[in-house]
Amino acid sequence: PHNYLLDKPQFCASYDRDKGIPNWTSWQLNSTWLGSATRETVYSSDNTLPPSFYHVTTSDYSNTGFSRGHMCPSADRLNTDANNTALFVMTNMIPQNQANNQGAWEGLENYERTLAIVGNVIYIISGGYGAGGTGLNGYAETIAGGKVTVPKKIWKVMIVLPAGTNDISRVTVSTRTIAMIINNDSTASDQNSWGTYRVSVDSVESLTGYDFFSDVSPSIQAVIEAK
Ligand code: MN
Ligand code: MN
Repeated sequence: PHNYLLDKPQFCASYDRDKGIPNWTSWQLNSTWLGSATRETVYSSDNTLPPSFYHVTTSDYSNTGFSRGHMCPSADRLNTDANNTALFVMTNMIPQNQANNQGAWEGLENYERTLAIVGNVIYIISGGYGAGGTGLNGYAETIAGGKVTVPKKIWKVMIVLPAGTNDISRVTVSTRTIAMIINNDSTASDQNSWGTYRVSVDSVESLTGYDFFSDVSPSIQAVIEAK
């Protein structure tokens, strides 16, 4: 229940029943996912969770001072209405400071799409770390009567390749990675400031305990994760 795999056509996630949020969410972005479909407006509970799990509802976030922060962002799945709607399940959300959500976090989201538009494929993993963020109503470690944890930090890592086939075999010591860690408060409110919050992939591995890009050979990981 603390590492429940959600394997969807649009994204994958490790979900924590008791935190009410994903540990991580992962997806691949390339230009075929982009488009001009209609952005969904209705957030819904994820009915693919086991019936025994608490199913977080959109109203669990209402009046909490935290926004419903997409991990896989809406604009990364706009090729069809159905694919966009699939991102509005509450298992793809974390309670996120609104200025942060629309600030540096969105700045990097916009940038990942510019990389896709020019012909790259990007593998992205993001999640929250710890407990305790600051929203419009001040500091909180949980919302919804304790059923949803408010992360302390939000992180993202990605690896960027020219679109092609057999992606793992094409990763070299020159392959680009981008990683970010930001506090879940209003500090990172400037969309253009996202570069300020870049860190190495190794830093996110140290923070989270995860081994990203683990299918890439250790000698290559050692180089591209230290950048
Ligand atoms: Mn967002
Ligand atoms: Mn690694």
